[in-house]
Amino acid sequence: MIVKISEIDNELIVKGKMEGSQLTMSDENEFCFLSPVDYSFAVRKFENLIRINGSMHCTINLICSRCLDEFVFPIDTYLDVEFSPKVLTPKVSELELKRNELDIYYYEGDEIDLDPLIYDEIVLNMPVRPLCEESCKGLCDACGKNKNYEECRCDKVSNTLLGEQLKSLLTK
Ligand SMILES: [Zn+2]
Ligand SMILES: [Zn+2]
Repeated sequence: MIVKISEIDNELIVKGKMEGSQLTMSDENEFCFLSPVDYSFAVRKFENLIRINGSMHCTINLICSRCLDEFVFPIDTYLDVEFSPKVLTPKVSELELKRNELDIYYYEGDEIDLDPLIYDEIVLNMPVRPLCEESCKGLCDACGKNKNYEECRCDKVSNTLLGEQLKSLLTK
């Protein structure tokens, strides 16, 4: 979605829904969209700085890092970012970045493309190690069964003293 800077008076409200397919930036997605991205942003201009803040939410599909099952993950986030014109020297903006907590983006000419911003925000809100549930039991190391669905006997054997002895015997 493109925002035209010349069209911002005091404050410009941009809101709507966007299909995930519009945002897809690379083929290396580890998720897919289960819902459109619902967003509502306020865009304000301070001299040549553009400040954008507001909320967005969507639902995505992730793969559990323990059991490899797919699960639904809602993203509900508030973003607050600043766009500076690209002509500023990088040194100045790096300093800015250290001084305040805001993420700094750059714009060129009269247009700001919000798509990369929305996409980044989704990726930032994704868990590093996705889990279908905190208590996910994962896959059995020995037989590969999903222990959330099925009890296997591997644990029972290896947890007993006999099992330990058997294990060390087998690995020798
Ligand atoms: Zn899981
Ligand atoms: Zn097993």
